Amino acid sequence: MTDCLFCKIAAGEIQAGKLYEDDDVLAFWDLNPQAPKHFLVVPKQHLAGPAAAQAVDDGLIGKVLRTGARLAAENGIEHFRFVVNNGEEAGQSVFHFHLHVLGGRAMRWPPG
Ligand code: AMP
Ligand code: ZN
Repeated sequence: MTDCLFCKIAAGEIQAGKLYEDDDVLAFWDLNPQAPKHFLVVPKQHLAGPAAAQAVDDGLIGKVLRTGARLAAENGIEHFRFVVNNGEEAGQSVFHFHLHVLGGRAMRWPPG
């Protein structure tokens, strides 16, 4: 997708604080962190969000989750929250699937 921010980050056209990259996924620190530790894991393949993930291999979504958990551990984040927003009312602002990994503070429930 030519006009997608996270596709541009995945293509190296826009710089991000990269944590991890392989052929399938990319992880980078969130520009506007909502917790002391806050990073995103995205599939390199463009997918608008979790509703669109019906169209891809289960393995790709599993890899995004596994990568988030592994990078949390590698960055000393023992207690963390995964968030994936779908749609504007749910808080999605970038329409390329991304897993938020938030940690480093106590989390409340229910989320706002
Ligand atoms: P969402 O609101 O769930 O769509 O999340 C989008 C996230 O992307 C927000 O937490 C933003 O702070 C983050 N974000 C937007 N632009 C960038 C960027 N250039 N680098 C890193 N994170 C970004
Ligand atoms: Zn994209």
